[in-house]
Amino acid sequence: MSDRRRKKISIAVDGPAGSGKSTVARRIAVELGLLYIDTGAMYRGITLKALRQGISLHNEAALARLAKETSLEFREMPDGSHHLFMDGEDVSEEIRSMPVNDGVSLVAAVKEVRAALVEKQQNLGARGGVVMDGRDIGTVVLPQAEWKFFLTASPQERARRRWRELKAKGLDVSLAEIEANIANRDEIDSTRKVNPLRPAADALFLDTTEMSIEEVVDWIKKKVGEDKTNVL
Ligand code: C5P
Repeated sequence: MSDRRRKKISIAVDGPAGSGKSTVARRIAVELGLLYIDTGAMYRGITLKALRQGISLHNEAALARLAKETSLEFREMPDGSHHLFMDGEDVSEEIRSMPVNDGVSLVAAVKEVRAALVEKQQNLGARGGVVMDGRDIGTVVLPQAEWKFFLTASPQERARRRWRELKAKGLDVSLAEIEANIANRDEIDSTRKVNPLRPAADALFLDTTEMSIEEVVDWIKKKVGEDKTNVL
């Protein structure tokens, strides 16, 4: 065997809520044998902990402290899915609740919260071999990623997707409520001062409004597979 150490590729998938990025990133990771990391779940975890402790989402110092001291770990479940464990507790369900949806963008706009979580994410991605999804992966977390994708879709379609997901989980939310939440998060995420949502200069952009998950997965796999210098 050659002595040359070959590093596995990393793939960054960014985009707004409901663009399909999590579902697509998870599928790509399974199909290419890479590790999937959902960075939004980490911001959601800190938000959940703040809500549980009654910490104001405007108290930046307390939020920064939480982000630094909280242990966040992804563990693989017997069915192959990855759950987020916060301080040893599986919080995967609870981080998708409406109170967390409503608060997470405020928490994610705090500079020190981002610094702490970006550091954890960079450690997770340091050895390559990851598909990481979020808002600033291609620009800040993994600027060296071999592949960067930026997915989007119309606001109406993104709200419908999120609404169907939550309905399927048995949550009683209206489409109007989801539309308002997504519009609010888009606004905060793309106008915040620290690491706003925006495509990396070298990202490949894809509008998924009229596409199925399969079509998006195939499109990305084709792009990655076209480059024979990739190490998978
Ligand atoms: O991806 P998801 O919708 O679960 O992310 C929840 C929130 O976390 C986003 O609306 C955004 O405020 C924040 N986030 C972020 N940077 C990331 C991932 C998520 O600011 N890399």
